[in-house]
Amino acid sequence: PPLVRVKHLEKIYDVSGVKTPALRGVDLEVLPGEFTALAGPSGSGKSTLLHLIGGLDHPTSGEVWLSGKRVDQLARTELADLRLRHLGFIFQAYNLIPVLTALENAAFVLELRGVPRREREQRALLALETLGMAEFAARRPNQLSGGQQQRVAVARALAAEPAVILADEPTANLDRKTGEALIEYMKMLNQMQGITFVFSTHDPRLLAHVTRTVELEDGQVKSDSAQAQAQRRD
Ligand code: ADP
Ligand code: ADP
Repeated sequence: PPLVRVKHLEKIYDVSGVKTPALRGVDLEVLPGEFTALAGPSGSGKSTLLHLIGGLDHPTSGEVWLSGKRVDQLARTELADLRLRHLGFIFQAYNLIPVLTALENAAFVLELRGVPRREREQRALLALETLGMAEFAARRPNQLSGGQQQRVAVARALAAEPAVILADEPTANLDRKTGEALIEYMKMLNQMQGITFVFSTHDPRLLAHVTRTVELEDGQVKSDSAQAQAQRRD
């Protein structure tokens, strides 16, 4: 069964009566193990789709399913539980906890899940190392640059090894070397741990590794490489 399932999804933003349609009837199924890119120009609805799949915002109409649960109808506590167990986010807003060190932030989801201290610190440190952040493990967010904070947030998502990682332009604000390390780590988690990835990107280095590309245009699916393959098989 699909891990992510989106049916007839519509999102119309309403800012003081000014309505902006961001998604106009999107259907999408993502199977376990996929490494799927959302492509398309700025404003085509990629971020909105990722936010709705993650339950960070409500659709205007349609359905969002994650791991067999209807995300858009879950109660707050159930949604929090689903996120904690199944979902990782690599989004632009970092949301690091100011009083915790980089290591504690990176280990935070694992702590909520009850993973023992030694194991969660090992996993968090490995993720920080991969992103070139091991030497900053003891620093708090206000002692780090914006880019370094982003790397800690990425490490937090990766260390938790959830079923699905949603990422919005994950390499966009990273220097070349860090971006390449992140791509390697994402690939490793996908291939070795079977973690499913859905991410928006324009980065050709990341696009080179995808199993599928879904292209959005003006809030609709313009093309889907998986469907193109299925049609060739028919
Ligand atoms: P992309 O990620 O492909 O750049 P977005 O999902 O960010 O596209 O945006 C799709 C459309 O929705 C754009 O027209 C954008 O201006 C609008 N939009 C996105 N977020 C909001 C918001 N919070 N409030 C109002 N309009 C929004
Ligand atoms: P991205 O670069 O990932 O597409 P954006 O720069 O479009 O992200 O959006 C950044 C933030 O601003 C998001 O939280 C988004 O919801 C919000 N946003 C985007 N477009 C609009 C808009 N037209 N009006 C209000 N908020 C917006």
